[in-house]
Amino acid sequence: MSMILPNSTIGMLGGGQLGRMFVSAAHDLGYRVIVLEPDPYSPAGLIANEHLVAAYDDVDAIIQLAQGCDVITTEFENIPAHVLDTLSASCAVHPKASAVEKAQNRIVEKAFIRSCGLLPVPYGSITTYSEIAPAIDKIEFPAIMKTARFGYDGKGQCRVDSLDEVKQAYRDFEQQHCVLEQMIDLKCEISVVLARNEAGESCYFPVAENIHIDGILHQSVVPARVDDDIAQSAQVAAKRIADKLDYVGVLAVEFFITQKGELLINEIAPRTHNSGHYTMDACITSQFEQQVRAICGLPFADTSLLSPVVMTNMLGNCWDLSEEKPALNWSAILGSTKSKLHLYAKCDARIGRKMGHFNTLATTNKEALQEANRIFTQINEA
Ligand code: ATP
Ligand code: MG
Repeated sequence: MSMILPNSTIGMLGGGQLGRMFVSAAHDLGYRVIVLEPDPYSPAGLIANEHLVAAYDDVDAIIQLAQGCDVITTEFENIPAHVLDTLSASCAVHPKASAVEKAQNRIVEKAFIRSCGLLPVPYGSITTYSEIAPAIDKIEFPAIMKTARFGYDGKGQCRVDSLDEVKQAYRDFEQQHCVLEQMIDLKCEISVVLARNEAGESCYFPVAENIHIDGILHQSVVPARVDDDIAQSAQVAAKRIADKLDYVGVLAVEFFITQKGELLINEIAPRTHNSGHYTMDACITSQFEQQVRAICGLPFADTSLLSPVVMTNMLGNCWDLSEEKPALNWSAILGSTKSKLHLYAKCDARIGRKMGHFNTLATTNKEALQEANRIFTQINEA
């Protein structure tokens, strides 16, 4: 592939925080970015060179995007696959529709994980009422019902403990296709973020250990506190997935490690990932710069870790929402000389909404975690 050089124009489907951080990285390398996003005040749209305010499948906007760009990528995994296909008729699009599509439906995704010779969480799929009983035979309670499509940050999920609760959850989800997943007794969670180019070369970032609260990522600790062989197995599994998808761009794979030390694959994200935000301050190259490099055919840059780091998410919950103008304990975060704050310029702070994150660097990941927790506690005490 010939290189798409700086001064060229990149199209970004989606205007969220992942898009915003991509736009910054692309600007640093001298690219222009056109964002397609229906929300007129989106984090990425606000800083893009051009913002097409239209639905992702708006035909006129798609034509305009394809005509104005040298290459197009995505930050949002639910871009309709047919849109990626349409765009690819007249412009380079990475990742391609067939790769993104696999991660858009949990039933398809889990079958794909198996086809790679890897282990998903034990599950049964439910697409009709009559599939409830066979699905239950495949798992042990407690379990989690998840809608097959459009879940994020733990939404579209509910814990179930009996046949009756599965039936109720299926009704509550209005009989959408679902997976019934066994609840895993987790030792910990890790993720691998990697970049792959058209030549099939890939390049990993260090494995992150992820701490969730209420199904939402709270912190990523790097280096992950897991054995090297587990970390390596996860990287090999992620590469196998990327190769099998013939993936171009940045991809993340989320893993569960069971109490017995077994490595299971939770899910695949065909985009940059929240657990890769630590790379912005703790690696020479961020996941967003590597996304630019992967889709433009530039050589990959170094991904090694410069310092132990903890990334902490700031949800709307950190703001004092009782006032008309929500307030944050700014001194807690701005006073930490070893932390870098990244806010996404979202106007409304809401419970559970990702507003920003901070990366805390220290000599060890233990010290980074202590400092990050100290700041986080202070923010929430305000
Ligand atoms: P996101 O896209 O933001 O990662 P999501 O809505 O796709 O989230 P999942 O990754 O499926 O959600 O689940 C979110 C978190 O909930 C997991 O990282 C894990 O902490 C917990 N969880 C989900 N499924 C299971 C399970 N089967 N067993 C144990 N914990 C689980
Ligand atoms: Mg997840």
